[in-house]
Amino acid sequence: MSLYDVAVIGGGASGITAAIFAARCGAKTVILEKNARIGKKILATGNGRCNLLNANLSEDRFYGDREFVKKAFYNFPLSDMLSFFESIGLPCTELENGKMYPKSLQATSVLDLLREELSRLGVEILTDFEVKSAEKTKNGFKLISSNGFISAKKMIFACGGAAAPQFGTDGSAYKLLTSMGFKMKKTFPALVQLQTENTPKALAGLKTDAAATLFVNGKKIKSTFGEVLFTNYGISGPPIFDLSRQVSEALEKVDTPEISIDLLSDIPYHELTELLSARQKQFSYLKPENFLNGLLPKKLGAEIYKRAKTPRDMAQLIKNFKFKVIKTMGFKNAQVTAGGICTCEVLPETFMSKKQKDLYITGEMLDIDGDCGGFNLSFAWCSGALAGQDAGCEYKNDKSR
Ligand SMILES: Cc1cc2nc3c(=O)[nH]c(=O)nc-3n(C[C@H](O)[C@H](O)[C@H](O)COP(=O)(O)OP(=O)(O)OC[C@H]3O[C@@H](n4cnc5c(N)ncnc54)[C@H](O)[C@@H]3O)c2cc1C
Repeated sequence: MSLYDVAVIGGGASGITAAIFAARCGAKTVILEKNARIGKKILATGNGRCNLLNANLSEDRFYGDREFVKKAFYNFPLSDMLSFFESIGLPCTELENGKMYPKSLQATSVLDLLREELSRLGVEILTDFEVKSAEKTKNGFKLISSNGFISAKKMIFACGGAAAPQFGTDGSAYKLLTSMGFKMKKTFPALVQLQTENTPKALAGLKTDAAATLFVNGKKIKSTFGEVLFTNYGISGPPIFDLSRQVSEALEKVDTPEISIDLLSDIPYHELTELLSARQKQFSYLKPENFLNGLLPKKLGAEIYKRAKTPRDMAQLIKNFKFKVIKTMGFKNAQVTAGGICTCEVLPETFMSKKQKDLYITGEMLDIDGDCGGFNLSFAWCSGALAGQDAGCEYKNDKSR
């Protein structure tokens, strides 16, 4: 049985990066992945295009411990992440709102080139290897799965969170660390669709640019802007995702979250009332379903007209199309996990455990989550790189390898 220098548990974004950085230093590295292949989730990111970074990377776009995130990005900034992708032959491009993608706009390019780099560096990949327990030994650690075990001098936990279990992340890996005494914050789904009360079925599938504001118990919490998607269960789309973390939190506390959608946020209420009054005079012949057609998508206009007849009422509804949230669509549909292993357990410079030398924790497993827009993957690459670099550094000048 081989003894590895570094074993990375989890072949997702942060685990693959950690393995590459450790192996670049010369460490004999293995990835242990419970799925039949590594990087399954990467392929699903950004709707198959992989929104891998954000040009406006800042700790303000994260939740959990922002000071920790700031320190991590200081040690491995966006420029280092871009150099990393260049070093594997992956040029990136910036699209709307600072979102960055591979130039090919294909998530497969990201995984293909990461895999090429792993292979060039001789990183071993053991798939269908779900680590069930980890033990401290005299020389390092023993990592046990139902198919056997391996030993390694250092181990990096990169097992992801509890969101999107179809990609191997069902939250069961947390116990590997909690059983060793690591502290954990309660988890809940973030970047997730919302089930709302009385969402008009006729709108299912409709997308429109709008401002969305979250109110909790009547108090304004946060506003976002972007493409809102109406569905047969409620509402979705990037601006809704970016409110969903606070919605989840409110639901946990049994508070009442409501989302108000401003369908014409560029027109102030009074102007809109005047505009609709003038429209009513000039176009009195229009059929009801067409009265708002052109100002709003036809189906949406017809729905507003069904509920409000006077220009004032219509303007009010357009500026404040309100939905009471019943629940989120849960971990199964969420993109990320809020909560997780406490950041107080690791150093932001290296992601090494403060209490257990040579044990590292990276990525979504930690109590850090970011907004929609490439922020979560940015944290995964950054944490993986810092942990891998640190775990591998002692093998750097070892000429016997
Ligand atoms: C549909 C979808 C779209 C997304 N799109 C974006 C996007 O465009 N941009 C963005 O920034 N973020 C996006 N995210 C979030 C982003 O993918 C994650 O935050 C990121 O992948 C986390 O990386 P990670 O390495 O920490 O964990 P993961 O990528 O989740 O990888 C963890 C790996 O560990 C393995 N594993 C778990 N337990 C064990 C065990 N016991 N033994 C062995 N292996 C184990 C899992 O199978 C998995 O392969 C998206 C998420 C989803 C679900």
